[in-house]
Amino acid sequence: MSLANKLSEERRARLAAERVLEQKQAELQAANRKLGQHARQLSNEIVETRAEVKTVKDENERVKSDLTVANEKVEQLERRLWHSIETIQDGIAFFDSDSRLIAANEAWLSVFDGLEDIRPGISYVEILQFATEEGIVDTGACAAHEWRENMLDRWQSNAPQPQMIRLWNGAHIKVIDQRGHRGDVVSLAMNITDTVRYQDRLKHARAKAEAASRAKSSFLANMSHEIRTPMNGVVGMAELLQDTQLSEEQMLYAETIKSSGEALLVIINDVLDYSKMEAEKLVLHAEPFDLERCIHELIMLLQPNATDKGLQLLVDYDLFLPTQFIGDRGRLRQVITNLMGNAIKFTEAGQVTVRIVGVHSDDDKVAHLHLTVEDTGIGIPEDEIGHIFGEFNQVDDEHNRKYEGTGLGLAISQKLIEMMNGKIWVESEAGQGSCFGFSVPLPVAEELAPDCFRVASQLNTALVVDPSDTSCAILAKQLGVMGITATCCGSGEEALKLNPEQFDVVLCEHHMHDMDGMELVSAMRERETSTPFIVISDSCQAAQQDPAHRHAHSVLQRPYPRSDLFRALQSLADLMSQPEQIAPEIEAETDLDPRAMRVLAAEDNKTNRLVFSKMIKALDIELQFAENGLEAVELYQSFKPDILFTDISMPEMDGKAAAREIRKLEESAAADAPLPIVAMTAHALDGDADDILNAGIDHYLTKPLKKAAILDHIQGVWREELRPPLPEDQDG
Ligand code: ADP
Repeated sequence: MSLANKLSEERRARLAAERVLEQKQAELQAANRKLGQHARQLSNEIVETRAEVKTVKDENERVKSDLTVANEKVEQLERRLWHSIETIQDGIAFFDSDSRLIAANEAWLSVFDGLEDIRPGISYVEILQFATEEGIVDTGACAAHEWRENMLDRWQSNAPQPQMIRLWNGAHIKVIDQRGHRGDVVSLAMNITDTVRYQDRLKHARAKAEAASRAKSSFLANMSHEIRTPMNGVVGMAELLQDTQLSEEQMLYAETIKSSGEALLVIINDVLDYSKMEAEKLVLHAEPFDLERCIHELIMLLQPNATDKGLQLLVDYDLFLPTQFIGDRGRLRQVITNLMGNAIKFTEAGQVTVRIVGVHSDDDKVAHLHLTVEDTGIGIPEDEIGHIFGEFNQVDDEHNRKYEGTGLGLAISQKLIEMMNGKIWVESEAGQGSCFGFSVPLPVAEELAPDCFRVASQLNTALVVDPSDTSCAILAKQLGVMGITATCCGSGEEALKLNPEQFDVVLCEHHMHDMDGMELVSAMRERETSTPFIVISDSCQAAQQDPAHRHAHSVLQRPYPRSDLFRALQSLADLMSQPEQIAPEIEAETDLDPRAMRVLAAEDNKTNRLVFSKMIKALDIELQFAENGLEAVELYQSFKPDILFTDISMPEMDGKAAAREIRKLEESAAADAPLPIVAMTAHALDGDADDILNAGIDHYLTKPLKKAAILDHIQGVWREELRPPLPEDQDG
């Protein structure tokens, strides 16, 4: 090969090598650039990482210091918490879920009096064991093992009830255990010794106060009795004094003593009742009673006052209303007495009408009674009406000033009615009259057949003769219910004009102007009018003393219970089937000399015996006294009285025991008619009336006794075969 070729070949090779070198150099440069870039990136990353590490380090430092602060705080809080727990005087202990003691404060541990075994780790069962074995708790009547079992049962329940524990030293601990949700238990032991002692003191003080209050009640009872007994003497003697020969001045003195004594008794009763209500000591005693009878008894009691003032007392008792109710008879009577007493007191002329209606549903056996007392008296001015039920409130005007009173009666009545779940109200117009009313729900104690008051068909028409429109209207309504059509007229002359022959019966008021009831029946008989005649009179006694009363079929004492009116008409209807007996004529006097009535009075107090004997001295009767219940029972057997009046409080045997004894004797001897027994009582407190009536006593009179009331009772039991107690020339 030529040199040139060789040279060119070498040049080509060199050129190729140079190109390879260039390429490799370029590649090396590129790699270097990449490396440089990577190195820069790495260096950047290192810088960043370093910064991050620093941040984390800082953060770490901060967290560390925060943690230290937090730990310090926790420690401080724990210290404070324990300090607080230690400061608490009640014991606190913590138990884990295995019932082992974790910790307890000093107060809790002190109960165990430094026992070393009572320390964290001890179980609850062991604690109970120590408590009983070391005599720390006083388990009382409960045996130690029983006490521990009870305590453990309680501990294991989900929500243990608080438990009272008594310690050996008399301290009382109330244990309250609270279970947490991980099974831990916090046990709180509160020392309630002071509270228990305070409660004991309170109980003691309460018992003492109750004893004092009972003493006060019995003091009130005794006081009322003690005051009333001598007052009976004062008022009774003053009344007797008035029956003697007195100068006008002396008569005034006697009247003043009597009325002041009576007024004082009213005040004493009002104040007693009111103070009992204030002390919430007044309780109602519900028992079956006869409302209609109760109202008629009241009318009889108030009749003398009304008659003195020329007022008529009328009763309108709804014929469809039952008579027997269950309620506090005495307290209802007190309210009605107050309303009627006021009506009579504040009425100078006209009448006082008591109306009783009631809504009675068979389902609930409770009647909603509605009783009103209407009068035609002075009335109450409009601006005063709102106040009169308040205590000591009285209308103060020229019409009212002359009437006496305490102003407590209506306040007491209102409270009583409210206690019976009822309400009381008044409607009144000054100068026209007042209408006081109350409504009370009262359970009914009887079944009333709707037609129980229908009389036999012989009686269809009646002539009612009465000057009072109200009275006529009431009677006509009652007759209507009995199936009798009534025609009313206002005087005897009018009755005669109406031709009484055309009626089946004539019912006539006794006292009328011009021609009274007895004159009317005499006139009718003179005209040979034989229509049966029934006289209605405020005083049966006066009517029976009139010889003309024998022309009458019967005399009805006003106010009459519906049953009396019904009985009188029914007996008439029965007689009409034997016509010859309808118009009784004067019977031939019997040859037999009737005996005098025998009256037995049991009374231990000498003055009261004197008052009693003086009050009935004008009567044609035989009177014997017993000085106690025993003597009364003996005399009942030997003297065979027609009526017994008995005091309640007497030595040896009281009036109630004597009445019970007499009722027993009557039962064993199967006596025909029971002896009428009338109690004379000075008791003013609860339950007395009930006790008296439950002892078999028929009626009771409250002391001071009234002559008229005694006479009424004696007259009420008089029978045809006995000598009339009042001589013919006496008008009572
Ligand atoms: P007292 O009758 O003892 O004064 P009450 O509380 O019974 O006490 O009556 C309060 C007052 O109400 C009476 O003083 C009288 O002013 C008035 N009042 C009560 N009832 C009537 C009545 N029927 N008519 C007129 N005023 C009456």
